[in-house]
Amino acid sequence: MPQDTAPQDTAPHAAGSAAQADPTARSRELFARAQRVIPGGVNSPVRAFGAVGGTPRFIERAQGALLTDADGREYVDLIGSWGPMILGHAHPQVLAAVQEAAARGFSFGTPSENEVRLAEAIVERIEPVDEVRLVSSGTEATMSAIRLARGCTGRSRVVKFAGCYHGHVDSLLVAAGSGLATFALPDTPGVTGADAADTIVLPYNDAQALEEAFAEHGDSIACVITEACPGNMGIVPPREGFTQLIRRLTRAHGALMISDEVMTGFRVGPAGWYGWESEREGYPDGPADLFTFGKVMGGGFPAAAFGGRAEVMGHLAPAGPVYQAGTLAGNPVATAAGLETLRLTTELDVYSHLETAADALRPAIAEALEREGVAHTIQSANSMFSVFFTDREVRDYEDARSQDSAAYAAFFTAMLDQGVHLPPSAFEVWFLSLAHTPEVIDRIIAALPQAARAAAAAAGTRTGAGA
Ligand code: PLP
Repeated sequence: MPQDTAPQDTAPHAAGSAAQADPTARSRELFARAQRVIPGGVNSPVRAFGAVGGTPRFIERAQGALLTDADGREYVDLIGSWGPMILGHAHPQVLAAVQEAAARGFSFGTPSENEVRLAEAIVERIEPVDEVRLVSSGTEATMSAIRLARGCTGRSRVVKFAGCYHGHVDSLLVAAGSGLATFALPDTPGVTGADAADTIVLPYNDAQALEEAFAEHGDSIACVITEACPGNMGIVPPREGFTQLIRRLTRAHGALMISDEVMTGFRVGPAGWYGWESEREGYPDGPADLFTFGKVMGGGFPAAAFGGRAEVMGHLAPAGPVYQAGTLAGNPVATAAGLETLRLTTELDVYSHLETAADALRPAIAEALEREGVAHTIQSANSMFSVFFTDREVRDYEDARSQDSAAYAAFFTAMLDQGVHLPPSAFEVWFLSLAHTPEVIDRIIAALPQAARAAAAAAGTRTGAGA
């Protein structure tokens, strides 16, 4: 619903008296205009603040760890464009690479060297990936990987896990996390029964359910797709052995395993969750057949990929019969941003920086919430973490949905009022970057006590503990 009826206005504003009276005046105006011409006023649902209330901030510029909104207010950013901005915003070296590439042309529709270099950079980092096909979004990557799995196996069924989000692919918008978790939509109109009929949805981390699904449908399952470590219902790490159970069952039944690393890839470590988990568990049964990537590998531009063993990827057109294509796939500017971002993640030792930042922030969040008696559980995938407003371990989507979203909304709003922009949903990761220096982390920490008090008031869970 439009929040006000402000007329269209493009005049400079920040110093105006309206802006002083209402620090969100300009964002409110823009949101009202947006709602007239864009469904819900946004181009991706979670941005509308539907789950937390209030006016989405229209961002005018971003630099490092900071966002500046249309009213001239500054925020410490913990959205990071939902994952890509691992180096912080407008990193000067990425900016230079983008400017250099753009000056040579925006899109060719022919092969170009940057595509080869980005594919090589991915293959170099993820050992089980021999070949990748570049696409423009994570959704395209998972959609194409599933088509490929179906094409290779000649089977139709896809197993996915409740709470895992793989983009807005029709057949995967069944019990998906992310925006659908936020809006508690179990499904969405527009996805037909036929689209969903071939999707088997299982609870995450439930070995028995997975074994039963394969016992019953094993010969018609084309693939299992899983988030490498789920992050779209908040972080819910696989229980020990769960990833390998998927591997064993898919292999035993002639199905493929797709590991969706759109969020975790190049974020939780140079080799993503694959590298992190295989180091710890050894992966005796082997890695997934196909991987999907996005976010970090595009450095903030539209670039994503899917890849795997050469024999599987060889089924793709033009080498094989499974069709897949894209006008802007392997775009020269996007690939330049992705290449420079990947290069800098290793050169600047970004992963150890992220771990240090997360190690400073997590205990401070826990302490602030503890002090106000607010139920909470922080779960992590290395430096990537999320805060659940519940006091029990979250093992699956049902656990995640049992959290106190009202307490999160109050917490979010109080943080925002103090200049810290968290993701506007209780189901999302707090994304850190290289630009989250100790000073920036201190700014976040300073805002926590007031936000924790707001959460306690909203949740009615104030116990006085430690107060
Ligand atoms: N897969 C995962 C694990 C994601 O987190 C997302 C997006 O959040 C996607 C796929 C879809 O990516 P995109 O939004 O680029 O289509």
